[in-house]
Amino acid sequence: MQPFEFLKFTRRNNCRECGYPACLAFTVAVTKGGEDPGKCPYVDMQALGDKLAMVDCKNGGLSEIGVLPAEKDMALVAHLKDKIREMNFAAIASNLGCAWSSATDCLHFDYLGREVLLSRDTILLAGQEIADPRDQILLYNYIFYGGGDADTGEWVGMESLPNSISKVRTLRVYCEERIASRFSGQEALLRHCAVRMDGTPAEKMEASCSAALQIKVLPNLTIVLLFWDQEPEDGFPARVKVLYDRNVLSVLDIESLVFASERLAERLMELSDE
Ligand code: SF4
Repeated sequence: MQPFEFLKFTRRNNCRECGYPACLAFTVAVTKGGEDPGKCPYVDMQALGDKLAMVDCKNGGLSEIGVLPAEKDMALVAHLKDKIREMNFAAIASNLGCAWSSATDCLHFDYLGREVLLSRDTILLAGQEIADPRDQILLYNYIFYGGGDADTGEWVGMESLPNSISKVRTLRVYCEERIASRFSGQEALLRHCAVRMDGTPAEKMEASCSAALQIKVLPNLTIVLLFWDQEPEDGFPARVKVLYDRNVLSVLDIESLVFASERLAERLMELSDE
């Protein structure tokens, strides 16, 4: 049975009596993780019958890994959406750097140079519903964090942020090395693509690099790219270093930050192919 098939057996009001943050999270736990369906007091066990018989009951729910990453993401989206619904958009818009529309009760802001319209039920990116739940998680987390603290003006690498050891390699492989490889020998193209996302030169950065660019991923999240172009005569390949403001983890959690950096790399590459 798929999560959405089981969903109709719940009350679908996210009351949390089952111990899960949302009905969707519970349905994923039951259908993919072997959670006990009886933990939702509203499930009619007689009507459910043996439809769940194929599930290997480990009673571990989401923590038992029978759950595919995409389904975990869906459950997290449902959980975050639930939290966002309770927030007062008018009150939080300013600290998030967003505009708030009183007519629609929506938040408007830019994500990698494209307009986002976030309501309590949907997120539109450049007028289209966002298909990838990871983008939804990033944007909902940004709203949930409330905009964070003021920038310090001190730029640091991922390795200088707390609890980042496991993220440094991910960032290097999926962001820094991809940008370096794509724009090797093409510094002007990198600058051009950054400008198309409203990127600007980053002042007072390492004098030795070929280009220092700052790009607003979200209103309160600026990423600095330091780019050293290849030097074939000396055998040096192109290299990229990503920097964040020292206070960046008040704006986003570290998982979302790494994902935002990956998305920045992907967006630069999309623009370079246009
Ligand atoms: S107990 Fe859980 S699954 Fe049942 S209605 Fe409430 S939140 Fe949904």
